[in-house]
Amino acid sequence: MTQSDRPLRPRTLQVRGGLARTQFKETSEALFLNSGFVYDSALEAEQSFDGTLNRMVYSRFKNPTVAMFEARLAAIEGAPACKATATGMAAVHSALLCQVRAGDHVVASRALFGSCQWILTELMPRYGVTVKFVDGTDLDQWRTALSQPTRLVFLESPSNPTLEVIDIAAVADLAHKAGAVLVVDNVFATPILQSPFSLGADIVVYSATKHIDGQGRCLGGAVLGSEEFCNDVLGPYLRNTGPTLSPFNAWVLLKSLETLDMRVERACAGALKLAQFLESRAEFSEVLYPGLPSHPQYELVKRQMRGYGTLIAVELKGGKQVAYDLLDKLEVVDISNNLGDSKSLICHPWTTTHQRLSAEDKLAMGITEGLLRLSVGLEDPDDLIDDFALALG
Ligand SMILES: *Cc1c(COP(=O)(O)O)cnc(C)c1O
Repeated sequence: MTQSDRPLRPRTLQVRGGLARTQFKETSEALFLNSGFVYDSALEAEQSFDGTLNRMVYSRFKNPTVAMFEARLAAIEGAPACKATATGMAAVHSALLCQVRAGDHVVASRALFGSCQWILTELMPRYGVTVKFVDGTDLDQWRTALSQPTRLVFLESPSNPTLEVIDIAAVADLAHKAGAVLVVDNVFATPILQSPFSLGADIVVYSATKHIDGQGRCLGGAVLGSEEFCNDVLGPYLRNTGPTLSPFNAWVLLKSLETLDMRVERACAGALKLAQFLESRAEFSEVLYPGLPSHPQYELVKRQMRGYGTLIAVELKGGKQVAYDLLDKLEVVDISNNLGDSKSLICHPWTTTHQRLSAEDKLAMGITEGLLRLSVGLEDPDDLIDDFALALG
């Protein structure tokens, strides 16, 4: 039997995409836990470096297990190429920094993961890059900000932690008219629920730490885009700065991809059920979940996504102390700032993930003292509902 050249469906690609068996014909993917490679002759070494031979030379550049993870994720996403990184932040950092130089202009949505915000507000200006933030849900603000030549546009949808949903196709159009490349952080949606490339995005980034591993075991990241971008622009940046994914973590993530859709779909079903329960309770002034008709961008969600996601944000009447009381009384749901895990996790963004921001900036992002972010895992949703019911009293 030879490996099929037929186009395979996404579910099949999750288990077979990128599979490159060794001469031992192992069933499961091999773990190449090595840093370097050897050459049969000095000439072979020379030809490996000048490009005459296409082979592995050093695991900072390329490793067989990491390459399988990259090929499998690219196949699932429907992207021409993928580069894996040690963390999600290494992916965001290198995807953005490899493209800008002093004098460039960048436009981004305001509601972003904390460290992504830091890169745009603290790091980029140090190198002479100007950054303009907009309310991602307001197309007029995007239009105004993109009325000048722009190098990059960066957004996250749904956003962390308030689950704003941005019209990716409309922003892609405006970005391209301004000469910009659109980079989408697709972590909250996962490759299962949203395909930014089909909406016009040029580059997609992931923290593989979240749903891709999804079992709380290791950090990882990935950048997907064209062959030209991955090989000629991002490739040299990664090769020479070194935020490489470890082969061991690549192996864990590669095996995780095999069950990604099952895990995401199961957690989504639980999240919808729990969100409906939370919305029925009087303790909350707001329950934000993309699958509730009360979500401000519900129509857009249905157009742009194939599911509603595993994250819920709730705003408690009564602010911080009431929020802390709820966190402390939950017995099944863990207090943790991670997300996209098989275990349900909850956190108070005001005092944890977004603590560093000023009160004014937090409020501008929709983060109040009563806001909680809940990542729904794989438990029986009725146990999660019971946990909240008992904790709320
Ligand atoms: C977690 C996260 C990141 C960063 O990923 P790490 O793997 O923690 O470095 C970036 N963007 C979003 C939206 C995230 O949730």
